[in-house]
Amino acid sequence: MPGAVALVLAGGSGTRMGRPKQFIELLGRPALYHTLRAFQEAREVERIYAVGEEERIRDLASGCGIDKLCGCARPGESRALSARNGLLLCGEEDGVICLIHDGSRCLVTPQLIGRVVRAVEEGADGAIPAVPVPDTIKVADGERVLKTLDRSSLRAAQTPQAFRLGLLRRVFSAPEEVLREATDDASLVERAGGEVRLVPGERTNIKLTSPEDLVLAEAILAARERRGSRL
Ligand code: C5P
Repeated sequence: MPGAVALVLAGGSGTRMGRPKQFIELLGRPALYHTLRAFQEAREVERIYAVGEEERIRDLASGCGIDKLCGCARPGESRALSARNGLLLCGEEDGVICLIHDGSRCLVTPQLIGRVVRAVEEGADGAIPAVPVPDTIKVADGERVLKTLDRSSLRAAQTPQAFRLGLLRRVFSAPEEVLREATDDASLVERAGGEVRLVPGERTNIKLTSPEDLVLAEAILAARERRGSRL
């Protein structure tokens, strides 16, 4: 079976950050560089597709040796609609494993990429990284607490999320109103009755969302560079 493909979503406008977060510089390089580098280094990944500003992404990749990048699609109105556009670029067979990743999770590691690929190779319909939730989570209606959830059964889902391309093609043919509501890809597979397996995520695999995340991301990258560590 050929190697996996990665679909990196970098088509958001960064509403909460106030600017497109994928191009914010961390240690002197755009966040998206760090994301693409992890997929470039992951030996399980044969090709990378991206969604976002084609010229900017191609320039970024060619300027720093990301030679697995082989296509770029236009963003859609929501994350899942961007993913659907990106999937149209993937000409590989249905059995090939595809990892869909938030471009703004720029601290993803090749080790984590390997873990989700292996879980699908072992037979799961889908595999997603997840971490326990340290906070107590309340369901609220405005300022009013409705209930407290059982923290021991809660997990925070991360990306990359891995599935066979054939399954992704099926679930992404759902109506647009369903896709618009989906905040991750696994939820579409769950909705279709697929079994999604959790693999250990990494607490450092944060999604750049608000300005303070940049401070944290830069500190983690700097620690990795200093120590050559897997922090
Ligand atoms: O908005 P959210 O934080 O869930 O976005 C997750 C990822 O999806 C980001 O990397 C963002 O660039 C991407 N995205 C996209 N197209 C959209 C919205 C988000 O590619 N319309």
